[in-house]
Amino acid sequence: MKATIIHGAGDVRVETVPDPQIQDTTDALVRVVSACICGSDLWPYRSMAASEHGQRIGHEFIGVIEDTGSDVSGLTRGDLVVAPFVWSDNTCDFCQEGLQTSCRHGGLWARNGIDGGQGEAVRVPQAQGTLVKLPVSEDSALLPSLLSLSDVFPTGYHCAHTAGVTHSTTVTVIGDGAVGLSAVLSAKRLGAERVILMGRHKDRTDLGIRFGATDVVAERGEEGIEKVRQLTGGGGTHRVLECVGLKDAIETAFGVVRDGGVVSRVGAPQYAEVPMDFGVFLRNFTLTGGVAPARAYIDELLQDVLDGTIEPGLVFDLTVNLDDVSDGYKAMADRTALKVLVRP
Ligand SMILES: [Zn+2]
Repeated sequence: MKATIIHGAGDVRVETVPDPQIQDTTDALVRVVSACICGSDLWPYRSMAASEHGQRIGHEFIGVIEDTGSDVSGLTRGDLVVAPFVWSDNTCDFCQEGLQTSCRHGGLWARNGIDGGQGEAVRVPQAQGTLVKLPVSEDSALLPSLLSLSDVFPTGYHCAHTAGVTHSTTVTVIGDGAVGLSAVLSAKRLGAERVILMGRHKDRTDLGIRFGATDVVAERGEEGIEKVRQLTGGGGTHRVLECVGLKDAIETAFGVVRDGGVVSRVGAPQYAEVPMDFGVFLRNFTLTGGVAPARAYIDELLQDVLDGTIEPGLVFDLTVNLDDVSDGYKAMADRTALKVLVRP
């Protein structure tokens, strides 16, 4: 079968790899119907050292079950399923606590001999715990929004949820990428009375307004912090959702959070330290967030997607065939595309 292999910065290829086979009784084989490129895939695309053998990549996909191991129940050949971006048994103590990203028997796609999502098929370990059955056909118009349940939308939702967004909170979202826009949609879903979106790409912030942003701040750094403070009577917002992962973004988050408020971060951090000095101490705000246990949120969010209450798949603005996946990476890296859907 064909699958995407990254060989280094700017070097993504589609190559022939061995067809996946059932190896464990808890496995399923899934034929991929649609996959996508994540903002986090761009970190290796920008910085990975050249590698002769390369590495599989991709962790978001929807597909059809082709076969299951003898210990998999509740899933049968022909079922359409969505895979969260971490596989897990969904039964261990961490999974029971809703933290499937810390599963004792789980792991990441495209690592340690596990297939990546950007290919024609995937061997899914812990299939019964990992995969969620979708009650639609593979040509459903809902597919982009259902695919967003793999990662991008639950990641935005995790940010809003861990921040404790409610109807009585004001919110700033930092970043107008697909995760930031998903965080706007999530804050709106949780009833936030005001959502200030910090972003400078008008086509993206326009989608943010459609998703529920009440204000847009295009300025960055100190200027952006000042603008948000002006909009909030000088105090900042109760909740700040940091959806970028760069040091500037977390510093901006600390600048716009209201004293006693919460900063949640879901942008994969490209920094190792955050300011935690005496000045920050005096302000009594909380820092939370982290990698999103997408599996924990899918059941809750799926119904809203199925009945059309929300349309998180609007973040997809380009579709490429698997053979052209390299063009998809380039478009996202050049910011000519917000998020790219890949069809094998
Ligand atoms: Zn587990």
